[in-house]
Amino acid sequence: MNERDSEMMLAQLQRAGHTIATNEKSADVVILNTCSVREQAEIKAIGKAGYLTRMKRTNPNFIIGIVGCMAENLGESIFQRNSAIDFVVGPQRLHELVEVIENGGKNLRIGESKSTKSDQDFSYRLKKFNGTAFVSIMEGCNMRCSYCIVPKTRGKERCRPVDEIVSEVEFLAKNCVKEVTLLGQIVNKYIGMETVTGGGKATFVQLLERIHEISGVERIRYMSPHPRYFSDDLISAHRNLPKLCPAIHLPVQSGSNRVLKSMGRTYGREKIFEIVEKLRTAVPEIGISTDIIVGYPGETEEEFLETVSLFDAVRFNMAFIFKYSPRAGTRSAELADDVPEDEKERRNKVLLERVGEVSLLYNQRFVGKITDVLVEGHAKRGKNIMFGWTPNHHKVLFSATENDIGKIIHVKIDGFATTVLLGTIVD
Ligand code: SF4
Repeated sequence: MNERDSEMMLAQLQRAGHTIATNEKSADVVILNTCSVREQAEIKAIGKAGYLTRMKRTNPNFIIGIVGCMAENLGESIFQRNSAIDFVVGPQRLHELVEVIENGGKNLRIGESKSTKSDQDFSYRLKKFNGTAFVSIMEGCNMRCSYCIVPKTRGKERCRPVDEIVSEVEFLAKNCVKEVTLLGQIVNKYIGMETVTGGGKATFVQLLERIHEISGVERIRYMSPHPRYFSDDLISAHRNLPKLCPAIHLPVQSGSNRVLKSMGRTYGREKIFEIVEKLRTAVPEIGISTDIIVGYPGETEEEFLETVSLFDAVRFNMAFIFKYSPRAGTRSAELADDVPEDEKERRNKVLLERVGEVSLLYNQRFVGKITDVLVEGHAKRGKNIMFGWTPNHHKVLFSATENDIGKIIHVKIDGFATTVLLGTIVD
């Protein structure tokens, strides 16, 4: 979501006549787009802002702004932490950015927008494409997961109208984008359909069907679904829509029903087993990844072992595992953070080892096979080494040229590591 917001901000500024600097030292304005999900991200952003404000010594006109979730979360207190910061703009007010920069002086724009101006102008997409694009279909969240700051920073759920989303994807397809990832805090809760096409299908599924019809779009992904809203027709869509990629990121958070209840997740582990079984029946090769929090307040060893047993049963091929840390302003911050740090670390390690083993076995299955790969760009490993993604959302490294960026090519998988596949282009 932040990447997509950064693209939108760049486009607004370019439309207003500004140009993109090649590096921060030559810039007149630097905007830090921030995240608030974890405290560490905020500490890093504050540190970076401190470093950047030194530039005011050599360039008195230098402007620095903090935008995004941390801007919303910390608000005016950011000016108290560093008085050299010029503006603070929350994610719901990003469309006011040009006005803020041109206003000069201190600017604080947080909370819901009072303006009726849309921030969904997608002409920002007229930049260099690498064949893939994020498309926001809804923003905000009405859930109240105990540990999560997002409802505070991104506000209430707002769905974009379907025709606007379809127009954006058509525009992207005409500009060589082959893969779109639909974004939303709970993407499968999308209810922005103005015309329900019937059949009692979830509106999100109807949107997927509309996008599936768009010529030029070859891959569709979405992120992130909530288990509670994972309907049977979404599972059927995975079977019936060939462009819908066989990869799901399903944030589970815990395998313990007591912990899930305390988190306010509104589903139990049984629901996860049910979804996974149906998905694997519909699409046997589907890749399933997840998010887990270990060391949530009050999580006992038995409750942690329920998460381990869920891992063993589901066999996620990838997982982001977070050690719980309280965020001020969330409900769980009122609970005692009573799992010791070294115990959180141990639980984290146990799950990482589990997922590493499964990932290696899962990756092994692809060796010797030829797969489609959408080439995204240069890998860090060497000049002519490129990276791209398979439909199952495997990262693949291979030797290729710049001309291949944005194309879908055939790659034979020769080897693998825990997180990447290694391959060779074939005709
Ligand atoms: S569903 Fe829960 S975790 Fe996800 S954004 Fe909403 S409140 Fe946060």
